[in-house]
Amino acid sequence: MKNKILKRLICSLSLLLTSFSLFSSPLVNSVKKDTATSNPYKIKTIIVDPGHGARPSVLGEGHHSLGASGSYSYERNVTLAIALKLQTSIEKNMPGVKVVLTRSTEEDVALEKRSQIANENNGDLFISIHCNSLPDKVIHEHGRKVHVPDRSGRGVLLLVYGFHRTKEEEAAIGKKLYQDADFNENDNGGFDPNDPADVILMNTIKTKYRKQSIHLANLINSEFVDHDQRHSDGVIEQGVLVLCHSAMPAVLVETGFINNADDEAYLNSESGQDEIVASITRAIENYKTEVESVSQ
Ligand SMILES: [Zn+2]
Repeated sequence: MKNKILKRLICSLSLLLTSFSLFSSPLVNSVKKDTATSNPYKIKTIIVDPGHGARPSVLGEGHHSLGASGSYSYERNVTLAIALKLQTSIEKNMPGVKVVLTRSTEEDVALEKRSQIANENNGDLFISIHCNSLPDKVIHEHGRKVHVPDRSGRGVLLLVYGFHRTKEEEAAIGKKLYQDADFNENDNGGFDPNDPADVILMNTIKTKYRKQSIHLANLINSEFVDHDQRHSDGVIEQGVLVLCHSAMPAVLVETGFINNADDEAYLNSESGQDEIVASITRAIENYKTEVESVSQ
């Protein structure tokens, strides 16, 4: 009973604060400023997720996702190399920010485990690193179907999780929302789908995460295009499993097409990896400055 009242109070307060950030009248702006001084939001933890991984050596573990391959390299190795460099770069350029990797060895980690790591470490951002690749083309030759590699894809692509309602996302947000109140009524961490106040709050937060994800994705895309002159297929909303379980803004970065010869050389070169890392770092720095100047 007492918990229910506490929950109501947290709901109302969070809703009030979140609503303020949605409007921008002068009155609300002055309130925002006050709130920002008394309780400034800071990005403290960034989760960096190197896509895929080699088959785990532990027997019995069925999850593995080897990823795409080029003519001499594998996506899982490139993503790990870029992620490790990104960790160093973020921690060097943004003092006070900790980077948690979802895997730091060659071995694969299951997708659910990756979001679990992100949520347990209270991540403020989730950045998943991948390489793209096109499937083979099927052509007809002398009446036979022949598979031919399609190396025409090139450049970057940014994915954010679309606005689909999932139980997983709600559970993750619910747990994050109520954890400080030491309140765990059920598996959703206190979120009650039949409670109108909970539903409004949940939708407000999901809308906010989605907007922030799209914004960060656009910032990263601009760095790739404007600074590095890379080709881009833009920012796309898509139901991505590794992103949908995370209770935080999340972006998946396709850093290049590993089955395109030019991109593969770039992705495997020190200078290419450094350029990708520098661009993502600058975008996160800009994003961080923006969100920290506005109260949450
Ligand atoms: Zn991938």
